Amino acid sequence: MSSEPATTTPKVEGIAGYVTPYPYLDRLQEKMEERIEHRVPAAGRFCGFCYARLRNEDTRCPFCATPTSERATVGEIPQDVLRAYKLRQSTEARWVHTGAFTGMIIASLIFVWMVTWGPGLLGHPAFAFAELLLGGYFLAQFFGPLLFGQVGYRKGARKRDEAWARFLAERDGAAPTA
Ligand SMILES: [Zn+2]
Repeated sequence: MSSEPATTTPKVEGIAGYVTPYPYLDRLQEKMEERIEHRVPAAGRFCGFCYARLRNEDTRCPFCATPTSERATVGEIPQDVLRAYKLRQSTEARWVHTGAFTGMIIASLIFVWMVTWGPGLLGHPAFAFAELLLGGYFLAQFFGPLLFGQVGYRKGARKRDEAWARFLAERDGAAPTA
């Protein structure tokens, strides 16, 4: 086996083939969405590095492992940080909706084809309506969350990570990588 290629490109792994350089952002996504939707109080005790909500007794962030002695906790999450998570959420939602719409359009086209040109039983209106309803449902599911949702996840996560990187650079003055 001498034909093994020299791998210079990173391996495709993780959800939808995108691996976030900041794993704690993925773990925090759901919690940040709860905060964005005001399902949890805005005030609290948050990690001074990643803004995860900490319990009173926590001395080390369970998400990014930063000790509270190294970075003092803060009372609320900065708006720029919430916006980064919102970007990921809305990008994914937009792709899922577009996918679901595409699925329904396809089901409608099949419906039109069936009632117009469908031979025999395929052309029966009842059969065509069943296709429209069931086919519409399954095609919307398939194109929405399954297919387009993957793209949306990838694009959304990338946008969120870029926004976080910019935020870190501004906050901590980290040297830019490019
Ligand atoms: Zn943290």
